[in-house]
Amino acid sequence: MANSLIKKYEAMVLSCIDPRFQSKVHSYLKRNKLSDKYSSFTIAGAGIGVTHKKFKKWHFTFWDNLRTSIKLHGINTLIVINHKDCGAAKIVNAKKKFNSIIEHKIHNQSFIMIKKN
Ligand SMILES: [Zn+2]
Repeated sequence: MANSLIKKYEAMVLSCIDPRFQSKVHSYLKRNKLSDKYSSFTIAGAGIGVTHKKFKKWHFTFWDNLRTSIKLHGINTLIVINHKDCGAAKIVNAKKKFNSIIEHKIHNQSFIMIKKN
C-alpha cells in the first residue's frame, strides 16, 4: 500500500473576517460537499484584502499560504468568497460616494487581480 505524506484536498477558501458571514460561508461549503476538504484563509475583504494596494502588507502572506496549501494539501482550486456590504470595500473606495454599483466594481477588480496572479 502506497503511503503519501500529501493528502489530497479540494481547495483553499478565501473569505472575509466579517462575523455576519462566517456561518453562511460554512453552510455554502457544506451544501457544496466541501466540508473537511478545504484549507481556509480568512482576511478582511477576502479578495480585496489580498489584491488592493491599500492592504499591500497582507498580499505576500496570502500568496505564501496559498503556495503552502498547494504543497501540503495538494489543492488545485482557490474559492474566493467576497460579500456585499463589506467594510474593506468601503475602506478602499477612493470616491466620496459609495453604493452597491461602486462596491460591485471593487469586488470585480479584486477577482480580476487574483486571476492575473
Ligand atoms: Zn468583508
